[in-house]
Amino acid sequence: MKKPIIYSKDYCPYCDKAKELLKSKGVAYEEIRIDLEVEQKDIMIERSGGRRTVPQIFIEDFHVGGCDELFELDAQGKLDDLLELEKKENKAEHRKVIIMGSGPAGYTAAIYAARANLAPTIISGPQKGGQLTTTTDVDNFPGFSDGVDGNELMTSMEKQAKRFGTEIIFGEITKVDLSQKPFKLYEGEKLFTCDALIISTGASARYLGLGSESKYKNRGVSACATCDGFFFKGQKVAVVGGGDTALEEATYLTNFCEKVFLIHRRDEFRASKAMQERAAKNEKIEILWDSAVDEVLGDDKQGMTDLRVRNLKTGETKEIGAKGLFVAIGHTPNTTLFKDSLEMDENNYLRPEGDSSRMNVPGVFACGDVMDSTYRQAITAAGSGCKAAMDAERWLGEQEA
Ligand SMILES: Cc1cc2nc3c(=O)[nH]c(=O)nc-3n(C[C@H](O)[C@H](O)[C@H](O)COP(=O)(O)OP(=O)(O)OC[C@H]3O[C@@H](n4cnc5c(N)ncnc54)[C@H](O)[C@@H]3O)c2cc1C
Repeated sequence: MKKPIIYSKDYCPYCDKAKELLKSKGVAYEEIRIDLEVEQKDIMIERSGGRRTVPQIFIEDFHVGGCDELFELDAQGKLDDLLELEKKENKAEHRKVIIMGSGPAGYTAAIYAARANLAPTIISGPQKGGQLTTTTDVDNFPGFSDGVDGNELMTSMEKQAKRFGTEIIFGEITKVDLSQKPFKLYEGEKLFTCDALIISTGASARYLGLGSESKYKNRGVSACATCDGFFFKGQKVAVVGGGDTALEEATYLTNFCEKVFLIHRRDEFRASKAMQERAAKNEKIEILWDSAVDEVLGDDKQGMTDLRVRNLKTGETKEIGAKGLFVAIGHTPNTTLFKDSLEMDENNYLRPEGDSSRMNVPGVFACGDVMDSTYRQAITAAGSGCKAAMDAERWLGEQEA
C-alpha cells in the first residue's frame, strides 16, 4: 500500500474530508501542515504546479490535486489502484434504512430514525457534515445563544446521531437503481441495498462557467472563502454574487484581506437586510453594482493575477487588481443520480408529494436543500429531516403490517 502525502492547514474542511476518505480505506498518510511549517507552503505551491489551495495530495510522485480530484478518482474506481490497495470481494450489504448525505437534514433524519429503532445507516457523501462545515458563524440555529461554529454544530449532530446507534459510512453514492425493491445504491463498485431510502444530498456551489475560471480554479479561484481566504492575506480579492453567502464571504475576507470587491449583476442584493447592513458598514468592501466577471486573468506560472470586470450598463471593462476570486452565486441541487427515477421541479429540485417527504417511488423520502429551493437553511433542513424519518418509519410499519 502506498502512503500519500497531504499538504493541509488548520481549519480546512476539505483537508478533513480528504483525510476521512483515506482513513475510511484504512490508508495511513503523511500530513504536512503548511501553517505550522511555513517553508512548506512554497514547496507545496511549486510541487503542485502553482496551486494555492489546500489540500494538495500526492501519491508518491503522482499529483492527485485537491479534495474534489481525490473523490473523482475514487468515484472512477481508480484511487484504490493508485494506492495499491488489496481488492475486496464485492458483496451487497443490506440495511433497513439508508440516508444519503450528512448535512443537518441527514443527521436529523438519522437521530429520529435511530430513536425509532430503524438502525439507519448514513452514507456521508463527499462533504461530511454538509454545507455548514464551510462557515465559522452560525448565528441563527436555535439553542446557541452566542452562535456556533458550523463544524462544531455538525460534529455535535454527528455525535448525537451516533449516540442512538446510527452507522456512518464515509463515501459517495455514484449510481442508484430505484426500479425495484430492495433499492440498490452503488458506492463506486460497492453495492448497498435498502428497504427505505432517505435522500438528503443537499446542494453544491455553482460556478460562472468561464473557461478562465476553471483554468484558475484552485490557483486563485475558489468557492470557499473560509477554506482558502488564508492564501490572500494582505491582498485584494473579489467575491461575485448577491445573496447571503456572497455577503458573508466578503465580510469574512475583510478579516485578513486588504480590500474586497463585491461584484453583483444587479443594483440591489437578494441577501437578508442584516447581512446587507453588515457589509455596507464595512469600509474594506467596495461594491461593484451592475457588473460581472469578464475574465480571470493569469498565467501558467503564477495562476490568477488579476480580474477583469465588465459594467453591464456601460459595457466598460476594467482590471481591478484582485489576486483571488471567490464565487458565491448559489447552488445546484445534487439530484443527477435521480433524474430518471424521481420527480423534480424545473430547477431539478426533488418534488415530494404535498407537504410530506414522500417521493413518487414508495419507500423513497427527500429532505433538506435537495427539495427546498426557497428556505435553504440549516433549521428548515433539520425540520424536514425529522419529517422524512417519521414518514419512513410510518411507511416501513405499513409494509410490515
Ligand atoms: C457558507 C454558508 C453559510 C451558511 N450559513 C448558514 C447559517 O448561518 N444558518 C443557516 O441556517 N444556514 C446556513 N447555510 C445554509 C445551510 O448550510 C444549508 O441550508 C444546510 O446545510 C442544508 O442542509 P442539507 O442537509 O439539506 O444539505 P447539505 O448541508 O448540503 O448536505 C448535503 C450532504 O449530502 C451529501 N451528498 C451529496 N451527494 C451525495 C451522494 N451522491 N451520496 C451521498 N451523499 C451525498 C453531501 O456530501 C453532504 O454531506 C449556509 C450555507 C453556506 C454555504
